[in-house]
Amino acid sequence: MIELLFATRNANKTAEIRKILGPQFQVNDLAEHPEVPHIAETGRTFEDNAILKAVTVSKHIPGFVVADDSGLEVDALDGAPGIYSARYAGPAASDNEKIEKLLEELGRVGAPKDVHRARFHCVLALARKGEVLGMFEGLVEGQIANRPQGSHGFGYDPIFIPNGFQRTFGELEPAEKNQLSHRARALEKLGAFLLARPDQQRSDRDIQS
Ligand code: IMP
Repeated sequence: MIELLFATRNANKTAEIRKILGPQFQVNDLAEHPEVPHIAETGRTFEDNAILKAVTVSKHIPGFVVADDSGLEVDALDGAPGIYSARYAGPAASDNEKIEKLLEELGRVGAPKDVHRARFHCVLALARKGEVLGMFEGLVEGQIANRPQGSHGFGYDPIFIPNGFQRTFGELEPAEKNQLSHRARALEKLGAFLLARPDQQRSDRDIQS
């Protein structure tokens, strides 16, 4: 089993990552590491932010550390909200408020029937001892729904319809979303990379068995 620490305190994200990576990986997160300081996402790209988090945390914690940065890019808004997806409607705004703001902005730039192309974008950085070992990207293309639909997932899920589907991520079952999401695609690449490495860091339990 390959152990890795995911640089997040978001238990939902950790649960999603465990499901996607499967039983060959033991995924821990920062819940048990209060000593690791909060890291401000000050980069200008998803890559910058993922590297910043992975490298900083890997200086505090031994072994493989993975950090992600992700967001929604809407073509008609020149790629916004992008790296600002989490704070698009202010630092304390709810998911509904972010969605409302995005639909309002789209109302300003296009006609109501326009198809608004968009994609979810995820970048993962893998680091150890302060050094980046690899970067992994996942994209899922789609369009923005006219109004929120569905209650699964989080963030912008209720207004994102992936290509090939008539339903939003909010209407898909979590298992369906996990088959095609940006995070799943990036995690699959990370998993394959780690499994192929000769220096996988195995857990004690595995070495003994
Ligand atoms: P972060 O990568 O945790 O900083 O999240 C960035 C923000 O992008 C989240 O707060 C969400 O608003 C949005 N986002 C990222 N991935 C998803 C997703 O799978 N569904 C819906 N929103 C997402």
